[in-house]
Amino acid sequence: VAIRKLQDMVGFCETHACRRAVLLTYFGEGYHEPNCGGCDNCASGRKTMDGMEVLKTITTCALELSENYGVSYLADILSGSVDEKISGNGHDKLACFGIGKQHRRRQWLFWIRELIYCGYLTSFGMKYPVVRSNARTREALDGKIPVMIGEPDFQAVLTPGSVREEEPVYSANLYEILRDIRKTIADDEDVPPFQIFPNRTLKEMATRLPRSRGELLTIYGVGEHKVSRYGVQFLDAITAYADHRQTIVMKAHKARL
Ligand SMILES: [Zn+2]
Repeated sequence: VAIRKLQDMVGFCETHACRRAVLLTYFGEGYHEPNCGGCDNCASGRKTMDGMEVLKTITTCALELSENYGVSYLADILSGSVDEKISGNGHDKLACFGIGKQHRRRQWLFWIRELIYCGYLTSFGMKYPVVRSNARTREALDGKIPVMIGEPDFQAVLTPGSVREEEPVYSANLYEILRDIRKTIADDEDVPPFQIFPNRTLKEMATRLPRSRGELLTIYGVGEHKVSRYGVQFLDAITAYADHRQTIVMKAHKARL
């Protein structure tokens, strides 16, 4: 339960939607102003949208796949992108294959993540997270709670031949911070960055937010030697980041009271 709560909180920090709308929806109230004028997302010009149709489409697709696939795979199916894995699984024959092809893959990726951040869907599992529906999915689809998510603000572009590995939900901001630290160390030691830690390690750190040497050791590609050499720098950054997010959540709660 504690982990579930933490994940909700983390998602709240990652969303591009109006934080007031997300919070009020979370507490069972609706909020339909396009811009609350008070939160960081509204201040930066982000827009919040009604995600009901998007949620319906994604849920239908996830169910047809028995809720056994991740964000990236679902986005492929929805946008109708074929690769060996999808055709090998026969999933290009599914009813939901390409039902969202009027939108780019990247747009679907964004929406699925937003729905996870705002708690309407769950990312289940650590190594190969899959997208599952939850109690809030059903409440939303029954029309008991509104669906408020952030609107994409990018020009979606197709990138043929891009890597289609499952992409876990991690904090992009923290990932960039960790990459900077790695770059600094790599420059100091005059070695390529991946020799310090590969990208996968940093992504896992940005997903699981290890807070101690022991937790750090459970991350892919981290051994005793590297913990001794680099552990403190990465742990400090993760702690600072997690504390900062905690502050944002507290402020948002106060703003409501
Ligand atoms: Zn707002």
